Amino acid sequence: MMHIDGKTKLFAIIGNPVSHSFSPAMHNAVFRAAGVNGVYVPILSKNIGETMRGLRALGFQGASVTVPHKEAVMEWVDVLDPVARRIGAVNTLVFEQAPGDDKSICIGLNTDCAGSNKALAEQIELSGIRALVLGAGGAAKAVAFGLAAAGAGEITIANRTLEKAEALAQVLDCRALSLAEAGAVQADILINTTSIGMAPRHDLSPVDASLLPRFQVVMDIVYAPLETRLLKEAKAGGCITIDGLTMLQYQGAEQLKLWTGIEPPASIMRNALLQALERL
Ligand code: NAP
Repeated sequence: MMHIDGKTKLFAIIGNPVSHSFSPAMHNAVFRAAGVNGVYVPILSKNIGETMRGLRALGFQGASVTVPHKEAVMEWVDVLDPVARRIGAVNTLVFEQAPGDDKSICIGLNTDCAGSNKALAEQIELSGIRALVLGAGGAAKAVAFGLAAAGAGEITIANRTLEKAEALAQVLDCRALSLAEAGAVQADILINTTSIGMAPRHDLSPVDASLLPRFQVVMDIVYAPLETRLLKEAKAGGCITIDGLTMLQYQGAEQLKLWTGIEPPASIMRNALLQALERL
């Protein structure tokens, strides 16, 4: 049972839509298990400026930011973390109150990058690795930037819209291809950051099954379904597989550390996410 009183700290996820998010289940489960006097609520945000003013006025201590505000919110923070600046997207807000000052300082950060790196680094050494990243959207930027920061030897970005792959590859000084050309790439790891394979189109995969055995590790950041067609076929091809809930959990753990200073219990977070997935 959650205890709410005059000292309860307020956290939110802001986005549009937001009701589908698993983050409230994950963060509130940790607050309950770790005895943090906090509550994390979904807020439907149609106007990012008004939402930011509201969060400040109501004394929120932190927030997650999701589609479509990850880029636009950068204009509304006081301090932009260098990693978030490089990626060009903020998914985490920390509101810090200076002692004796009523006005809070809002810091914008990106934890998707650390979440993706942690999920991958549990399975394979990232330094010097050859990586094929499918997709060039917001999530791809965080994943690819994380790989570059971890010292990957070679990164290839393959996307349906080639111009978007080229734009990201230019920032990272790496190779860009169209998604149709991805089959020719030799790499150690494959990461799907496109939404291909997401329910209700779980019959789809971004890559032909015959190409998968060449990869040591395959990570899909799509998490509904938990075992996508890509992951099923990669497992059958002998690859180590990483599901999309792993990155979601690890980016959330980084947020909790920033907001509360605690090292959140991993099994509580994973179970809360699995239960949220079952309720879908
Ligand atoms: P986004 O910015 O809209 O990018 C979507 C990407 O998917 C683009 O590269 C897009 O290609 C590609 N795409 C979409 N439909 C496609 C299709 N039918 N065929 C080929 N390519 C297609 O979205 P995002 O924020 O990066 O999110 C992408 C996925 O990752 C979503 O499923 C999201 O739920 C998931 N995600 C998971 C986590 C996690 O922690 N596990 C975190 C963030 C996002 P074009 O550029 O050609 O349109």
